[in-house]
Amino acid sequence: MSGKTSILIYDLGGCEGCPLSIMRSYPRLARIYDVHAKCIGNADIERQYNYAIITGPICLNSQRHIEELKKIRKNSKILIAYGSCASVGGIILYARGGQEPRPDHRVYAPISKIVRVDFSIPGCPPAPQMLISLLGCIRSGRGYFLDLFKAVSAYSKLSGFDLMDEVVLTGICVGCGACVLSCPTNALHMVDGRPDLIVEKCIRCGTCTVRCPRFTQILIQRYKLRERAKMLASLVGGE
Ligand code: SF4
Ligand code: SF4
Repeated sequence: MSGKTSILIYDLGGCEGCPLSIMRSYPRLARIYDVHAKCIGNADIERQYNYAIITGPICLNSQRHIEELKKIRKNSKILIAYGSCASVGGIILYARGGQEPRPDHRVYAPISKIVRVDFSIPGCPPAPQMLISLLGCIRSGRGYFLDLFKAVSAYSKLSGFDLMDEVVLTGICVGCGACVLSCPTNALHMVDGRPDLIVEKCIRCGTCTVRCPRFTQILIQRYKLRERAKMLASLVGGE
């Protein structure tokens, strides 16, 4: 036992961009935490962890992956979905599957479809610094960042289409360009001081939504309202 906070990093599949992104921050992570990662071969999912970081989508046809994910949830205090596939499905939601070498894999979903997720970090892949920042915020209890990634965990789809509908077309866009800079496929570009979406290029990764200062406020407000409604319903139901 190292006495450090323990972390499990577990990959469920996909393009492997997310494990590579995490591995870029591995030296810093390993200095602070006791890291067990599937990609370096020491991931024992039978033991308890403080944090579990999941990359990749869940294949709903894979009973083995579903059981593994449930076991990891049970054995972890905090579970984090890392990357767009694990968080909001991303492009994998639209994958047909059914191809070699796993023809049984056909239907994919964000992991929140199967287990409760505490925080979700969309990105295709997220910047390596995001994970270290989120873990630091959890340790120090810093608010806005935590609220945002908790709020994202309540969504199963986020994309440039939502950004257009909720921010640009409602007239609350401030024209800062953060969404355009964050898009990994150049699906957004500025037209007359406002972003416009090239729909064919959007891979539904949700990165633009968590970079937009306006959209993040909407996400957090909605999440808080939903939580309050749930709490009130449980009070009424409990009478
Ligand atoms: S517009 Fe770009 S950043 Fe936004 S969801 Fe689409 S691909 Fe991702
Ligand atoms: S990040 Fe949000 S506020 Fe900034 S330009 Fe994009 S849509 Fe507008």
